Amino acid sequence: MITPRYLPLPSIDDIAVAILKNFYERIDYKIIPECRIWIGSHSGDNGYGRRVPLIKINSINYSTTRIIYYHHYKVNPGPLVVCHNCYPNSDNPSCVNPKHLWLGTQSDNLLDYFAKGGQPSFGNQQVSDDQVREIRLAYANGEKIMNLSRKYDLSRWTINKIVHRKTFKHID
Ligand SMILES: [Zn+2]
Repeated sequence: MITPRYLPLPSIDDIAVAILKNFYERIDYKIIPECRIWIGSHSGDNGYGRRVPLIKINSINYSTTRIIYYHHYKVNPGPLVVCHNCYPNSDNPSCVNPKHLWLGTQSDNLLDYFAKGGQPSFGNQQVSDDQVREIRLAYANGEKIMNLSRKYDLSRWTINKIVHRKTFKHID
């Protein structure tokens, strides 16, 4: 399967039509101030692998961040990677606010990730000990799993395991 990153993008006109039709109702503006969180479909919603926000245009799923970057800046990302800078929030791969997107190479993306304190990944989704505590506390205070999934950009499956202490058992 071709990953959304390497798919040639549709024309700027097709993108404009798709964005008018089914873009804005799939954005949550409130859950993280300044970020625009994509609440449409994602790859990796089965709980495995990286979650990439997806938008369907002419029956093909594209990375929503690549589409919105092209739409907003009129620059086709081509072989480059659309990276995030959601400062002062932590970077959220589901954020599609064009002001939080920048174009880099894959190595820029990795350098940026490590510069911001990211840890090497071995196929698991990234979640810090502090985030595990925050997620459990929010859940205990009645926050819904779906909202936690959006806020932390983790699948519902992953959040469910965290709050029920099936994972991260070592964290109190
Ligand atoms: Zn953002």
